Amino acid sequence: MSGTLYLCATPIGNLKDISLRALDVLGSVQLIAAEDTRHTKKLLNYFQIKTALTSYHQHNEKGKSGELIDYLKSGRDLALVSDAGLPGISDPGEVLVRRALQEEIPVDVIPGPSAFASGLVISGMPCTPLYFAGFLPSTGKARRDALREMKGIRATQVFYEGPHRLTKLLEDILDIYGDVAVVVARELTKLHQELLRGKVSEILNRLLEVPPKGEIVVYVAPPAQAELEAPEDWAAEVGKLVKEGINKKDAIKLLAEKYKVPKRQVYNSTVQAESEDLDRV
Ligand code: SAM
Repeated sequence: MSGTLYLCATPIGNLKDISLRALDVLGSVQLIAAEDTRHTKKLLNYFQIKTALTSYHQHNEKGKSGELIDYLKSGRDLALVSDAGLPGISDPGEVLVRRALQEEIPVDVIPGPSAFASGLVISGMPCTPLYFAGFLPSTGKARRDALREMKGIRATQVFYEGPHRLTKLLEDILDIYGDVAVVVARELTKLHQELLRGKVSEILNRLLEVPPKGEIVVYVAPPAQAELEAPEDWAAEVGKLVKEGINKKDAIKLLAEKYKVPKRQVYNSTVQAESEDLDRV
């Protein structure tokens, strides 16, 4: 019979956030696969756990999964941990879980801290619906394209970001979403935990004075709280909906509701644009 794969949460800053069950499992499995063995060694030493470690990170994830699956198939239990929080959340884990499930190996979780959920519940933003984006692409164009695709999603949006790219992410959010409400949660559970709440422009001004440090989660308010920026070309928006099969009257009504403007405003701009088009013919 196969052993069990345990996805085991570890603290995101404060070592006292480890769970009793995590300590039991980390102390009783035969092997711990860790994102960074030196990092996890410190955690194990603190709790006087002597279990053997092996490395499992984004660069060896695919190749090493086969080895770990064989290990589990031999009947021994394995715990998977990342540097912080839940493995699999913007960390290696998914590949191994899917392979284990394919092989009918039991998979279990030892729940605990995760940065996005911990900051969310004290952010003051709606906890549901939620769109967890993790890390956006690091290059400017790809990041902006991703934001353009996500604009308008009616959910609190959550991003992981490092301190050196935070300002760029916020500038892109300001550019694409407008001056929406955001929360920047920094160093959660640590000594210098800080939550900055305000409009993106205000937060950017504060970050110019005190450049960001540490680990960061960014929460963006859903469009219901942060008003959607009305499109400049109403006729084009109506046209898009008509192409999707919605009749013109309903399209105007839908857009007026979405952007919280009078129906007449959408109707008049559309009619005006259409008559200008006719004049050009
Ligand atoms: N697996 C982790 C989890 O469950 O949250 C996330 C790992 S991801 C590689 C690391 C990112 O999580 C950091 O860059 C930061 O965005 C966020 N993060 C981790 N610890 C944090 C903390 N104490 N405070 C704020 N953000 C944190």
